[in-house]
Amino acid sequence: MKDYVDRLGMAGIDNPMRDVRLMLAAILGTTHEEILFNPPQTLTPEQHNKFEAWVDRRCRQEPLAKILGKKEFWGRDFKVTKDTLDPRPDSETLIEVVLNLMPLGQSARILDLGTGSGCLILTLLAERPNWTGVAVDFSPPALTIAQENAQSLHVSDRVVFVHSDWFQAVDGIFDLIIANPPYIARDEVLPPETLYDPDSALFADDGGLADYRKILSCAAEFLTFQGLILFEIGCHQAKSVTEIATTLGFNLVSLHKDLAGRDRCLVFMK
Ligand code: GLN
Repeated sequence: MKDYVDRLGMAGIDNPMRDVRLMLAAILGTTHEEILFNPPQTLTPEQHNKFEAWVDRRCRQEPLAKILGKKEFWGRDFKVTKDTLDPRPDSETLIEVVLNLMPLGQSARILDLGTGSGCLILTLLAERPNWTGVAVDFSPPALTIAQENAQSLHVSDRVVFVHSDWFQAVDGIFDLIIANPPYIARDEVLPPETLYDPDSALFADDGGLADYRKILSCAAEFLTFQGLILFEIGCHQAKSVTEIATTLGFNLVSLHKDLAGRDRCLVFMK
């Protein structure tokens, strides 16, 4: 095992031991803890080849989530592929904010724009058993993944998936609209791991602000009287997104920071 840990370490991977254990656990169909306390002595030739290939991919900075095909978010595993943005710990800020704003027991109908793997809406439906929702994405393969995730989290009976360019094919009104739209400026240089996420989930025109403007200019008619719209934002976008929203008639309810203390989430009302 040590050779592989060294190879990953030399390639600049942060916690190579952990990655080796997680890859072995997935290949052997066991848990991280089992590998920790009971490291495997031998691998079959197939397992060995797979492990070698995975280590090579990781050395080229491919994210572990893309190699394993899954990523943990708010304590649950989500299937991910090249067609979905890997769920980020930063986005757990949105979940925390929604759960604090909307207590257990209160029913709600929610809309998730640009659902990707479905990690946001499916987590909320799993945490709030009397909520229902609509999950939208422009990418058919992403919708397929989100549907699979809904099934494995046992929430498929409370969510409808719609292939749509933001609101274009959406019907009805909602107590809550959430979105983690692409918000990175097209000329921004990102860390190599990010190259494995779909461009359409990352980059937006107008310095990263174009999709906030598109969403906010149609959102009002899809919100209930006291409905909320909640965005993930890039850490320097709070001011610009608030300006766009207020110009379009929304009021800022609150701004929330992520665990690293960076601006991460904005909540608006009509
Ligand atoms: N938070 C992601 C990143 O920094 C970007 C996600 C997005 O654009 N919505 O890579």
